[in-house]
Amino acid sequence: MRFNPEVVHVSGKQQVTADALSRAPVGEPSDADIALVDDAAVMTQNTVDFLPASPQKLQEIRAQQQADPELIEIFNFCQRGWPAFMPQNPLLQKYWVNQRHLTIVDEILLFDDRIVIPTNMRMEMLNKLHESHLGITKCRAPAQTSVWWSNISAQIENMVRKCTVCAKLRPTTKEPLLPSSFPEHPWSRVAMDLFDLHGKTYLLLVDYHSRWPEIRLLDHLTSAAIIVRLKSIFATHGIPEVVMSDNGPQFASAEFQKFTREFGFMHTTSSPRYPQANGEAERAVQTVKNLLRKATDPYVALLMCRATPLQNGLAPTELLMGRRLKTKLHFVQKAQPQKPDFLLLIQKEFRYRENQRQNYNRRHGVQEAPELQPGDPVFVKDLRRPGSVINKYHNPRSYIVHTEQGTIRHNRPHLMATPTPDQSPPVRSVPNAPDSSSAAPRSASPEATATIATVRPDIQPTPRVPGQPRVTRSGRSVIPPKRLDL
Ligand SMILES: [Zn+2]
Repeated sequence: MRFNPEVVHVSGKQQVTADALSRAPVGEPSDADIALVDDAAVMTQNTVDFLPASPQKLQEIRAQQQADPELIEIFNFCQRGWPAFMPQNPLLQKYWVNQRHLTIVDEILLFDDRIVIPTNMRMEMLNKLHESHLGITKCRAPAQTSVWWSNISAQIENMVRKCTVCAKLRPTTKEPLLPSSFPEHPWSRVAMDLFDLHGKTYLLLVDYHSRWPEIRLLDHLTSAAIIVRLKSIFATHGIPEVVMSDNGPQFASAEFQKFTREFGFMHTTSSPRYPQANGEAERAVQTVKNLLRKATDPYVALLMCRATPLQNGLAPTELLMGRRLKTKLHFVQKAQPQKPDFLLLIQKEFRYRENQRQNYNRRHGVQEAPELQPGDPVFVKDLRRPGSVINKYHNPRSYIVHTEQGTIRHNRPHLMATPTPDQSPPVRSVPNAPDSSSAAPRSASPEATATIATVRPDIQPTPRVPGQPRVTRSGRSVIPPKRLDL
């Protein structure tokens, strides 16, 4: 014999490599195996059937995908295997981290069952997603079941935020409350307002320091009638330094301006359509109105209002007059004038105002609108006309705005910043953090990333009735998702 073989037994655990025969398949595939393959084929066919685009659009996307330099690389990776390490090119990195989502079905690159949109078609898709000018969430929803590119979420958000049509229709957001500062002296700053009750009009003055209300019935709604009433109030309490009111015509008249000069006080108006600036007076009007509406005797009600301690522990009478008043309810124990502890008062007022501000902001979910710069284009929402910012006004959150119909002073909540023409959403995606839907990549070996699913011609799926879900061989029905119709 030419050979003299020696047969030695080596136990299985000692063997380094398995021999070929022990790895050869044995037996026929089981029914479960066949069913699994069939199900996979039906799912693949289903994905193709329900791609959210017409056959013409799919053909266009297919052609554009294969002409996109970025996507050509991805096709290569899907067909030949992904590199083991993240590519240097930042444009490819966002695909590498999402490699387990990327598949080629029917020659179209998909992200799960969403079509990967080539760069030059992204603007068209963004416009389609925002066709009805819905909000960010409602634009993202159809995208999440239809189309994908890296950074799509951020680009949708960017697009909606900068949409001029949406900006014009966006509801006015509440501005954070600007707490009024606490004046150090009584009757130095007062708020003034008019209100109607039981068919009569009243003038109301409220001291910012003591919250002391003064009310006068007006027989006429003229500046002259108001001036007479103011003079009578000033005769009791003195002339304040600042009187704040809204822009009522009686307060804006030349006659009233002359009165302010003669009596030497400053008259400040809250700007039109923004009575919140005159908040202290507005709140006092509500309090006094409620008081008078319920009261059987308005004078007793007014006395109680002035003599009842405020949240800072002191009554308006103590703060303004330095003494307590005797009311019908209780006898005065401290008849001697008491000087309030000023420091304690300031601390309490500060805390009270801060709480009020926080509560207001929380209740209204307010957001501080970003400051506008001279030259910024805006849309004046209540006047429904475009304009541009000239400058800031000295009142907080107030701006001088130039419009075609003239120059106006307007408050920030009514000014909607509109995008300049060069601020349209970027078409080219920037290398960015991976899409939130992606997970960590699996092993990067070519076997592990079998990313080409083909439609097997030998498997004939059950014919699909339009509008009816497809049923797999194992009886599961495949319900197509609601998607964008491209
Ligand atoms: Zn819009």
